[in-house]
Amino acid sequence: MSRILDGAAIAAEIKAEVAAEVSQLAAQGIRPGLAAVLVGNVAASQIYVRSKVKTCADLGIYSEMITPPETVTTEEMLALIADLNARDDIDGILIQLPLPGHVDTKRLLDAVSPDKDVDGFHPVNAGRLQAGRLSGKDSALAPCTPAGVIEILKRSGIAIAGKHAVVVGRSDIVGKPAAMLLLHENATVTICHSKTQDLPSITRQADILVAAIGRAGFITPEMIKTEKTGPGATVIDVGINRITEPAEFERFFAGDSKRAESFAKRGSTLVGDVHPKAFAVAGAYTPVPGGVGPLTIAMLMANTVRAARMRRGQ
Ligand code: NDP
Repeated sequence: MSRILDGAAIAAEIKAEVAAEVSQLAAQGIRPGLAAVLVGNVAASQIYVRSKVKTCADLGIYSEMITPPETVTTEEMLALIADLNARDDIDGILIQLPLPGHVDTKRLLDAVSPDKDVDGFHPVNAGRLQAGRLSGKDSALAPCTPAGVIEILKRSGIAIAGKHAVVVGRSDIVGKPAAMLLLHENATVTICHSKTQDLPSITRQADILVAAIGRAGFITPEMIKTEKTGPGATVIDVGINRITEPAEFERFFAGDSKRAESFAKRGSTLVGDVHPKAFAVAGAYTPVPGGVGPLTIAMLMANTVRAARMRRGQ
C-alpha cells in the first residue's frame, strides 16, 4: 500500500514552530512583518493573498495588504517597493503574481531587497541557494514551494542522501530551486523538461520523483518505479490543475465516488501533475489537494521570521 504524505499535518507542525519563534521574538521586542502587494482584481490572487494575511494573523506576524489598482505603472510600483524596502517594521515583501501585462515584473522582483525577498525569487537569493548558503548570515531565502518539498521529505523520514531524485520541470520558481535543494541534501539529481527525450525511462529511475509541470495527470503509472520491483518511488506532486470537464474528470477519477460527489457539487476539482492512478503504484506520495500546497504558505511564514532574524544579525 502506498503511503500518503500528509502535507496539511506537516504544514500545521511548521506553523506551530513558527508561532513559537514569533513568541520568542516578541520577548525581545521584535514582531516580524510581511507586506503583501496585490495588484488588480484577479480572483485567485485575492484568495491566495487573503489566506497568507490570515495565516500571519494566526501566527502573530504583523501583515499589511497593499492593493494598487490594475492601472498602476512600473514606476509607481518601484516607488512602493522602495518604501517597503526602507521600512523597519517590514521584514518580508511579497508581490503576488501574475502582475498586469503592462508592468515590468522582472524589474519589480529585482527591486525587492534580497533580505526581504521572502518568496526567494531575487537573483541574489537564487545565487545564494546555488552556492549552498543555506544557513547563517546572508544565507538564501529559498522559494517556498521547493523548500516545502524538502520539509515533506525530511519530516516524513524519507532518505534523500544518495537517492536518485528526478525533477520534472525547470522553472525558476519550482523546478530549478527544488533540484538545487535536493542536490544540497546530497541526492543525485536529474532535471527534466519539455525537450527531454524518453522521459519515462528517466522518471522510472527515480527514488524521489518531483512533478512540477503544470499539466494535469501528466505522470502516468508506467513512468514510476513501482513497489513490485523494490521500494516504490516517493512521488511529490507539486502540480495544481483545476478541471471542470466531466470527460476529464472520468479520465482521472473514474470509480472515486467521494471525489465525484464533490465534483458534482462544485463543478470542478483539483488534479496534480501526477495521474491519480500512478499514486497507487508508488511507495509514498503527496495527494492533491493536501500535499505540497499547504507547505507553500507555511514556508512563507518561516521565511518571514527568518528574514526578521537575519536582518537583525541573528
Ligand atoms: P512552469 O510552467 O513555469 O514550468 C513548467 C515546467 O514543466 C517547464 O520547465 C517545462 O519545460 C516543463 N514541461 C512542460 N511540459 C513538459 C513535458 N511535456 N515534458 C517534460 N517537461 C515539461 O510551471 P511552474 O514551475 O510555475 O509550476 C508547475 C506546477 O506547479 C503547476 O501545476 C503549478 O500550478 C504548480 N505550482 C504549485 C504550487 C504549490 O503551492 N503547490 C506553487 C507553484 C506552482 P520547459 O522549461 O522546457 O518549457
